[in-house]
Amino acid sequence: MEYKILAKDGRAKRAEMKTVHGTIQTPVFMNVGTVAAIKGAVSTDDLKTIGTQVELSNTYHLHVRTGDKLIKQFGGLHKFMHWDRPILTDSGGFQVFSLSGLRKIKEEGVYFNSHIDGRKIFMGPEESMQIQSNLGSTIAMAFDECPPSKASREYVQNSVERTTRWLKRCKAEMERLNSLPDTVNKEQLLFGINQGAVYEDIRIAHAEEISKLDLDGYAVGGLAVGESHEEMYRILDEVVPHLPEEKPTYLMGVGTPANILEAVDRGVDFFDCVYPSRNGRHGHVYTNHGKLNMFNAKYELDPRPIEEGCQCPACRSYSRAYIRHLMKAKEMLGMRLCVLHNLYFYNKMMEEIRDAIEHHRYAEYKAEKLARMAEGEKN
Ligand SMILES: [Zn+2]
Repeated sequence: MEYKILAKDGRAKRAEMKTVHGTIQTPVFMNVGTVAAIKGAVSTDDLKTIGTQVELSNTYHLHVRTGDKLIKQFGGLHKFMHWDRPILTDSGGFQVFSLSGLRKIKEEGVYFNSHIDGRKIFMGPEESMQIQSNLGSTIAMAFDECPPSKASREYVQNSVERTTRWLKRCKAEMERLNSLPDTVNKEQLLFGINQGAVYEDIRIAHAEEISKLDLDGYAVGGLAVGESHEEMYRILDEVVPHLPEEKPTYLMGVGTPANILEAVDRGVDFFDCVYPSRNGRHGHVYTNHGKLNMFNAKYELDPRPIEEGCQCPACRSYSRAYIRHLMKAKEMLGMRLCVLHNLYFYNKMMEEIRDAIEHHRYAEYKAEKLARMAEGEKN
C-alpha cells in the first residue's frame, strides 16, 4: 500500500492510494452495497459507468447470508460480484450492535442472535478478521464497539479501552491470516477506528493511542448516530489533527453532500453513506439546486432530465415525467434510475472536490456549492 498526498488546501487533502486492486483517488465516496449489491438493482457494470472507485460490503450481512466461507470457496468477493476494483468491508461491529436485540459484550467479543433466523453467533476481533479475510476485501475494518451517542462518560471510557485491546488483536490476527498460503488477498489492509462518542478528550487520547499502531488507515466512527451536525464538525476539528495525516482518514457513515464538504475541509478523505441509494429508492434525488422529490405532481409533463447537463444514465436518456411515472407505478426501473443518478451525483461531487483542492480553491468551491444547493430550484 502506498498513500501519497498530492495536494493540500488548508486542511483539505487530495491523495492517491495504491492498492492491490487499483489506485484510489481521494477524497473518495465509497458506494454502499450492503449484501454485495447496491440496493436498487444496480450492477457492478453500472458502478463502472457511474464512476465508482470503491465498493463497500457489510461483513455481518454476508456472514449470516450467504456465508463468507462459501464466498471464499468461490474465490472471494471480487470474483463473486464481478468487481475488480477496491472493496472495503466493515467489521460487522456496527450491525452487531445496532441490529441484534439480544447481545452480550464480553472481553472476548460479542454474543448475539442473527436477525435472519435468530441463531446464536459469536463475533470477536479474530472472527471479524477471519470473515473479512474469507471475503478477500481490499481494506478490512477493525472490530470495535460503537457506543450509543448518549452513553455515560464512564461507559464510553471503558468501551474505548476495550476497543483498543480489540484493535491490537485485530492487527495480530490479520498478520497471521495474510501469511497463510490459501488466503484470498494476502495484501489485505487494516484501518483502525477512533471512538469516544462526544467526549473530545477520550477521542483525542484514543486517536493518539491507535496512531502508534502504524495501521494502513484511520477511521472516525460513532458519528452521525444522533448528535447534531455542529457537534460532529466540532469533534472532527478536535480529533483529525491527532490522526496521522500521511495515512487515509475515513469518516464512517457520513453523510449528506454538505456533511462531506465540511468534513473534507477538516482533513477527511474517505466517506461512505447509504443516503444516495436509500433516498434514490424513495424517489428523492440530489441536484446542484437541492433535493427533488420525483413523486411531485409538477413533474407530470416535465421533459427535462433530473438535472440538466448531468451525464448519468438516467439524465442522458429519460425525462422527469417518465421517471415520476415509473416511481408512481412502482416500476423497479424508476428506483434504479434514481439510485444511479444519486450515486453519480456523489461520485461527481468528489471529482469536483479533488479538482478544487488541486487548484487551491476549495474554500470558494465549497461556499458556492453549499449556497447553490441551499437555494433550491427556481422554477
Ligand atoms: Zn443524472
